[in-house]
Amino acid sequence: VKIGSPREVFPGESRVAMTPDSAKQLQKLGYDCVIESGAGIAAGFSDALYAEAGVEVVNSAEELFASSDIIAKVRPPEESEIGLLSADKTLISFFYPASNEPLMEAAKQKGASVIAMDMVPRISRAQKMDALSSMANIAGYRAVIEAGNNFGRFFTGQVTAAGKVPPAKVLVVGAGVAGLAAIGTSTSLGAITYAFDVRPEVAEQIESMGAEFVYLEFDEEQTDGAATGGYAAPSSPEFREAQLAKFRELAPEVDIVITTALIPNRDAPVLWTKDMVEMMKPGSVIVDLAAERGGNCELTVKDEKIVTENGVTIVGYTDFPSRMAAQSSTLYATNIRHMMTDLTPEKDGKVNHNMEDDVIRGATITHEGAITFPPPPPKIQ
Ligand code: NAD
Repeated sequence: VKIGSPREVFPGESRVAMTPDSAKQLQKLGYDCVIESGAGIAAGFSDALYAEAGVEVVNSAEELFASSDIIAKVRPPEESEIGLLSADKTLISFFYPASNEPLMEAAKQKGASVIAMDMVPRISRAQKMDALSSMANIAGYRAVIEAGNNFGRFFTGQVTAAGKVPPAKVLVVGAGVAGLAAIGTSTSLGAITYAFDVRPEVAEQIESMGAEFVYLEFDEEQTDGAATGGYAAPSSPEFREAQLAKFRELAPEVDIVITTALIPNRDAPVLWTKDMVEMMKPGSVIVDLAAERGGNCELTVKDEKIVTENGVTIVGYTDFPSRMAAQSSTLYATNIRHMMTDLTPEKDGKVNHNMEDDVIRGATITHEGAITFPPPPPKIQ
């Protein structure tokens, strides 16, 4: 049985779903590996490195899809890629089935099985396959690096012969996976870091990383937006007003704002308004990790970097993991390899697509000619 990874077709996408190292691990599970020529180049993996790792290099996507039984890729498939699937093939990639119904229907028509990496249940056992988290971690790190690159000052305070430099003040809004990575990166660079989340249970994590949790003077004491299943729910208007009032207080003080706030299946909440941007000092930087879903900052332009009239830089890039393609490919390929490990319990190079397994069931969106999305809730937590 062969597992293959094509070159990503989405413009500017630098990641690849198989690395020479992950290929070696997949071979230990009994699979033969195939890669499309050039698929790893932008992530730093040449064809020669794959060949050395025992991977067959083929020249086109058509050849890759034809020769592979399992196709592992990063981005959701394009229609042309779905066209290359057939009843005996399995596709593993990000898919976002809730917003890609026609694609899912097309995969079903082809009879192919599709495993959506974004649908892996977020239970402890599945953390090793949680590609949303591995990519969010990179995005959070890179957001701070991007902010630093656009900020004309140090993060850490210094006393030098040429003068005393105050530390930068960073505010991280939303302390999920990406936000916590941003907090860790910011404190390790020496900035004074503040963080806010509607889920009060993250306060301890924020403080353990050396940042300060921003408390609101609010009657319901931040329990209002607390989540079901670990995710946030929309805030009440009163809570939102209290949050915005606090941000208005902080806006003239902070140098860098990293926003990561998301609510499942909704547009990103607007939390950093135009008037807050106008209150910020010239040279300040906002990195909006929610840009893909409309942005947490009112002025964010998706996929662009803009500078406002008062000299605030707002970064709305949506491809942070791809900007660190070597690292993100390595982690993503490892997530895929763990998925394959679970799909190959006998390590005999044969897929056992066990729909009784919560993780495999949860991530499978088409199987045996049927759409299997949405999945039933997982039995274990
Ligand atoms: P996410 O990307 O959906 O949201 C990012 C953060 O934004 C969340 O922390 C959310 O509370 C916050 N947010 C929403 N509205 C906000 C507002 N108005 N103001 C400020 N913050 C706001 O979240 P995520 O990073 O994917 O993680 C969500 C949860 O899932 C977390 O509790 C995380 O620990 C949990 N999780 C569990 C596992 C696991 O057990 N395997 C894996 C990953 C994540």
